[in-house]
Amino acid sequence: MHLDQVAHVTLGFLPTPIHVLEQFSATLAGPQISIKRDDLTGLAFGGNKVRKLEYILAQALQENADCIITAGAMQSNHCRQTAAAAAKLNLECHLVLGGEAPPATNGNLLLDQLLGCHIHWAGDKRKGEDIPELVNKLKTLGKKPYVVPYGGSNELGVLGFVQAMKELYEQSNQCIPYSHIVFASSSGATQAGLMLGRAMLKNNCELIGIAIDKEEINQQSLADNILMLANQTALKLDFNYEFTRQHLNLDENYVAAGYGVIGESEKEAIKLLADAEGVLLDPVYTGRAMAGLIDYVRTKKIKSHEHVLFWHTGGLPALFAYADDVLNL
Ligand SMILES: *Cc1c(COP(=O)(O)O)cnc(C)c1O
Repeated sequence: MHLDQVAHVTLGFLPTPIHVLEQFSATLAGPQISIKRDDLTGLAFGGNKVRKLEYILAQALQENADCIITAGAMQSNHCRQTAAAAAKLNLECHLVLGGEAPPATNGNLLLDQLLGCHIHWAGDKRKGEDIPELVNKLKTLGKKPYVVPYGGSNELGVLGFVQAMKELYEQSNQCIPYSHIVFASSSGATQAGLMLGRAMLKNNCELIGIAIDKEEINQQSLADNILMLANQTALKLDFNYEFTRQHLNLDENYVAAGYGVIGESEKEAIKLLADAEGVLLDPVYTGRAMAGLIDYVRTKKIKSHEHVLFWHTGGLPALFAYADDVLNL
């Protein structure tokens, strides 16, 4: 099937802008660094999940679903963007969130509540383990639930980033003028889509996914999950290509103490970019990915004559929820 034939519903403001980070690049005294602003996709503070949801929720509409279920961490950006999309499409939304109801509401959780979704607390099961039970419950109430996978990472979610790669190509006058694209990688569809899009465009810029979470997804490592997603989606698009480990550049050296534990390097990255450019990063994803890029520049893994695109994947509401962790600089 051709990408243009897949059902799609417009949710975001695309294409997102690209601009050069002149002062930030000068501060690091390395390569020229540009930024792709998926924090500006719209939909209740934006982020990369909007791209995936344009394909996933189009299928939900086709199937006449009347309620949407998804899962994530308490400060999940994916859940907040799903809640906003559901509101816009007039669908009921159920979020299965890790942890227990906190005494105070902030960041993404505050937005989830404003967006009118139903929140189910799942304790230590933050990857949707409780969803089947909820599906059954909603069905017995006569509803037609549709489950959006963890992080929006299935073949439809991948299509959002195949399209994003096409968007980048068209935006840059039918080329991809970067030696490297650096981004946060966590449930897999962003990286799988960029890999597949790059292969379809026959481009060879280097894609560097900075891993954010060291835990497995559906008993699979993130690396295996990315390759599986890329291969399944290639098949769906009748694109004859087999992705193997050698096609994958996933750097797991920056996960540090794990998902959502903010360290000095994330804090430094957030502060450096904010001071140099007035551009904000989030503590969980883009702060960590940018810390990775800064390290690549300092250790000369990326050289001064090269040109990097940092793909900002959003996540900004979490800044408020992690205020105490980000502030003690
Ligand atoms: C979900 C998310 C990512 C990771 O994207 P995946 O497709 O899940 O790998 C990166 N940054 C932010 C802000 C996110 O919310």
